[in-house]
Amino acid sequence: MSLYLEERIKCITEPKQKAQPKVYIRTFGCQMNEYDSEVVIGKLLQKGWALVHNPEEADIVLFNGCSVREHAEQRVWSNLESLKKLKQRKPKMLVGILGCIAQKHKERIWERFPFVNLVCGPANLSHLPEYIKELNEKEQVLAVDKQERDFKDFCLTFPAQKEGFKSKGYVVIMSGCNNFCSYCVVPYLRGRERSREIKEILEEVKELVRNGYTHITLLGQNVNSYKNNFVKLLEEVNKIEGVEKISFTTNHPKATSEELFRAMRDLPKVEKYLHLPFQSGSDRILKLMRRGYTRQEYLNLIRKLKEILPEVRLSTDVIVGFPTETEEDFLKTKQLMEEVRFDNAYIFKYSPRPGTEAERKLKDDVPLEVKKRRNQILLDLQKRIWREKCRR
Ligand code: SAH
Ligand code: SF4
Repeated sequence: MSLYLEERIKCITEPKQKAQPKVYIRTFGCQMNEYDSEVVIGKLLQKGWALVHNPEEADIVLFNGCSVREHAEQRVWSNLESLKKLKQRKPKMLVGILGCIAQKHKERIWERFPFVNLVCGPANLSHLPEYIKELNEKEQVLAVDKQERDFKDFCLTFPAQKEGFKSKGYVVIMSGCNNFCSYCVVPYLRGRERSREIKEILEEVKELVRNGYTHITLLGQNVNSYKNNFVKLLEEVNKIEGVEKISFTTNHPKATSEELFRAMRDLPKVEKYLHLPFQSGSDRILKLMRRGYTRQEYLNLIRKLKEILPEVRLSTDVIVGFPTETEEDFLKTKQLMEEVRFDNAYIFKYSPRPGTEAERKLKDDVPLEVKKRRNQILLDLQKRIWREKCRR
């Protein structure tokens, strides 16, 4: 067992010494945010901090938040509101806002929440212990100057907390995105796409295996556009002794190939599961979204995948209420879901994200009531499909 892991388990299982500073962290967002929180915890534990599961006990409370959809942001804001009272009772307790939400709102966070001490963007996260130290002398620290993360600072991997230290380890293989879908803020907040070297990734996987992690998840905004050949990477990870299962997320249809489907079929450790967001079933909307594929091209991919790997499980992301979406466009989305019969679908109501092309050029003209209704119809549909699949 590595020193790091021993330290980490000790921090969680042994009674804490009085002097040990305590951190509470809460993550609002995707697996990438979860991973980033792990990096933060790892960095702090190495510096002698202990992890606690209740903000009341903490010397610093960190919220790591996503900014991709308005709803995700709202959750962070309302939780911060609730934290205000605790901060009044415990004025020495520090509060930090991390992640995309910090990168996006920067010092503006202080206008609404002046009690926040630290605002730290995703590329700055690995320096978090230094920023906390600065808070000994300063009331507030703003750390949002880095656009792209330095992989070296992030190369230690940690088990996912919510898995309870069982077997699941995450490895980031690339970060950022170059696709600039018209509705999406990710390229602005996480920077341009960058891929890590295969050798470095394999080393990290081996380190995880040495620490007892057998289920490896490869993470990135679009793992299949990994520049050093994603299929080759899967083959190499598949060869590593001790790895029992390999998952990966998330994928873009534009970069998805038959070669990947064959690799999923032929590599025994690779999970027979693909998350492949389609966003809309209407070609007109797909074009406005700048997704780079048509409905038919998406369906062709799914057909090919099911031919090569009939037992595959599929999930997707869908946006309803994109600007100008008519009832007819929406019905095409619904039909696509009925045709593919996904195992799971994440359905989002469109929200304009400041700075994106859609926000600048298209009026958010689908009324909230209509978005809610379309959202509910797809949720009900997905529930029905899932129930039918379970019954079978
Ligand atoms: N890279 C991934 C998506 C990351 S964002 C991909 O391209 O598939 C996760 C999901 O959030 C997206 O797939 C999309 O469905 C949703 N999303 C992103 N921006 C949104 C917005 N402005 N409004 C509503 N949903 C959005
Ligand atoms: Fe956003 Fe599109 Fe990049 Fe996904 S592919 S992160 S939706 S810009």
